[in-house]
Amino acid sequence: MSERRIGVFICQCGGNISDYVDVEKVRTAVGDEPGVVVAKTAMFTCSDATQQEIVKDIQEQNLDGLVVASCSPKLHTFTFREVAKRAGLNPYEYTQVNIREQCSWTHTDDKAGATRKAIRLVRAGIARTKLTTPLQPTVVETVPKALIVGGGIAGLRAAIGMSDIGIAVFLVEKQPEVGGWVAGFGTMYPNAKDGRQLIAHLWGEVQKRPNITIFTNAEVVGKSGSFGNYQATIRINHRPAETIQVKVGSIIVATGFDTYHPAEGEFGYGMDGVVTLPEFKTMLDSSAGPLVYKGKTVRDIAYIYCVGSRQKAEVPDANQYCSRYCCNAAVHASLTVTAKGAKVHQYHLYRDMRTYGKYELLYKESRDEGSLFLKFAADAPPAVARDDQSGRLTVTVADQLTRGEALNIAVDLVVLITGMIPRSNEELVKTLKLPMGKDQFFNEIHPKLRPVETVVDGVYICGACQGPKNSAESVASALAAVTQSAGILKKGFAELEPLVAAVDPDQCAWCGKCQETCPYGAVEKVEVNGHNVASINEAVCKGCGGCVPFCPKEAIDLRGYTDAQVKAMIDGLLREIV
Ligand SMILES: Cc1cc2nc3c(=O)[nH]c(=O)nc-3n(C[C@H](O)[C@H](O)[C@H](O)COP(=O)(O)OP(=O)(O)OC[C@H]3O[C@@H](n4cnc5c(N)ncnc54)[C@H](O)[C@@H]3O)c2cc1C
Ligand code: SF4
Ligand code: SF4
Repeated sequence: MSERRIGVFICQCGGNISDYVDVEKVRTAVGDEPGVVVAKTAMFTCSDATQQEIVKDIQEQNLDGLVVASCSPKLHTFTFREVAKRAGLNPYEYTQVNIREQCSWTHTDDKAGATRKAIRLVRAGIARTKLTTPLQPTVVETVPKALIVGGGIAGLRAAIGMSDIGIAVFLVEKQPEVGGWVAGFGTMYPNAKDGRQLIAHLWGEVQKRPNITIFTNAEVVGKSGSFGNYQATIRINHRPAETIQVKVGSIIVATGFDTYHPAEGEFGYGMDGVVTLPEFKTMLDSSAGPLVYKGKTVRDIAYIYCVGSRQKAEVPDANQYCSRYCCNAAVHASLTVTAKGAKVHQYHLYRDMRTYGKYELLYKESRDEGSLFLKFAADAPPAVARDDQSGRLTVTVADQLTRGEALNIAVDLVVLITGMIPRSNEELVKTLKLPMGKDQFFNEIHPKLRPVETVVDGVYICGACQGPKNSAESVASALAAVTQSAGILKKGFAELEPLVAAVDPDQCAWCGKCQETCPYGAVEKVEVNGHNVASINEAVCKGCGGCVPFCPKEAIDLRGYTDAQVKAMIDGLLREIV
C-alpha cells in the first residue's frame, strides 16, 4: 500500500488539556511518524476557525486520513466526521483520540507522565488510521409509525406531537387510565393549573387524532427487527390476555417514576399524623375548606425536606441525587394550605432550598404568607416523636440559622417531602435493552448534546423516567424526543453506523458461538455455496465486538476496529518514546 497522508491535530482545549499535557512535545513526537504529513496544535480544535483550517489542510495537502486528539469521542466524533466530509474525505478515515478525559484530567499531578501517555495514545490513533478504508453508512427504510410507552403527561404530549407531524402512534399504558401522576393532582405549581384538567385537556386532544391508537392495561413484552423497522409485541391484560404485533420505526419510552417510600420509623413514618408528600397532596386536593386530619382542624404542620434524596453513601441503595421537584412542590403545598382559609403555622425544615428560576417567587410568597424556614445540617436531621403528655407530635431540630439552637415544635401533622425514585420496570428494560445510569433511571447518550437518545438506535427516552423532572421539564423532553424521532421517520430512511461485525464465509464453519454470544440477536445462520455460515444483520449489530473473541475460526472482524488495526494500535502504544 502506498504511504498514507495523515493529518494530526492536537487540541489544547483552552488549557483543559495543555495545562497538564505538553501539547508541543506531543506534536513534535508524532510529527515525523511515517505517513503523517501535517501535525498541528490548536487552542480549540472544535472551533469554527480550526474546523475550517482542518478542511483546508485536508484539501490542500491531499490528506487521506485524519486524527484529532482532543476530548471524549462521545462529544465530538460527529463534529469531526462532518469536518472530514466537508473536505471530501470519507468520515470513517477519521480517528478521535481522547487525551482529555483519559489523559490530562486523569493525570493532573504528573505533566511529564501525561505527556508521554498522550504521545502513545496519538501514535495508536495514527496506527489505526493508517489501516482505515472508506466505509458507507447502512441505509434502512423507516416505517412512519412510532410506539410510545407510558401515557403520563410526557407520553401523551409526545403522542400529540408525533401525530401532528403526520406519524401514526401506538400508545401503550400499563394502567387502566392514562395520565400518570399528574392525573391524580389538583392545583400544581407554578401557575396553579389543576393536574386533572391538564390531563383531561391532553386526553381530549388525543381523541381528536385518529392516527393515535391507545392500548390501556397493556405492556410491551417483545421487540424484534431493527431501527426504522421494529416489530413490537404488546400484551393487553384483559381477561383473557391477548398479544398483538405492531410495526414501528421508533420507540419513545415515557414510563415516569415512583416516589420514595420511607421505612417504618424513618422520621416517624408509621406514626399517626406522619405522612408523605403524595399522601398530603391527596388530602389537600380532596378537602374543600380548611385542612382537617382525623376530624380535627390542622393548626400546625412541619415539613421535613430531602427524605429519600441526597442520602449518605452508607445508606443501603442510597439515593444520592437531588429530586429537584420536591422543594417547589412542598412550598406550593404550603401555599395551598394557606389559600384554604384557616390560620395554620407552617414550619419548613430544609437542608438547602432548591427553588430555582421562576420558582423562587413561590418561595418568597410562602415566606410572605408566614411560613417559617429552618435549616438543619446534613448530619443532624430532625427527629420526630410523640409527646406523652400532650399526645401531639413533636419535631426537634437544631436550626442553623439561629446558631444551632435546638427547637421542639409541637405539630398536628408532619409531612415528609419524599423524592423521586426510578420505577421498577424490569421486563421493559430487558425487552428494549434500555441503558440505566448509576442512579437506575434511564440514561441518555449525552445530557447536553443528545439528551433524549439512548445507545439503542431509534429508542428515545423522555419525562421523569430519565431522572427527576417537574411536569414542564417532562413535556419539554417529550417534545425533544418527538423532534429527534420524527426527524428520521419523516425522511423515510435512516443511515446506520457501518462500524459493525462482518463474517468471512470462507473461514466460518458454523459452530453458532457468535449467535450464542450476541446480546442483540444480530447473527443469523445462512447457506452459502451449500454450507451453513454465520451472517451479521448490519441493521441490528451494534459493533460491540462481543462475538469476535468467541469465534474459534477467527472468521469475524469488526469494521473500523479490525484485528490488524487493534494490533497496530497496541504496537503504537507500546513503542518506546525517545
Ligand atoms: C407529590 C408530587 C407533587 C408534584 N407536584 C408537581 C407540581 O405541582 N408541578 C409540576 O410541574 N410537577 C409536579 N410533580 C412532578 C410531576 O408529577 C412529574 O413531572 C410528571 O408526573 C412526570 O410525567 P411522566 O409522564 O414522565 O411520568 P408519570 O407521571 O410517572 O407517567 C408515567 C406513565 O407511564 C406508565 N407506565 C409506567 N411503566 C409502564 C410500562 N412498562 N408500560 C406502559 N406504561 C407504563 C405509568 O402508569 C404512567 O401512566 C409532582 C410530583 C409528585 C410526586
Ligand atoms: S463463531 Fe465463527 S465459526 Fe462459529 S458460526 Fe460464528 S463466525 Fe462461524
Ligand atoms: S459485534 Fe456485538 S452486536 Fe454485532 S454481532 Fe457481534 S456481538 Fe452482536
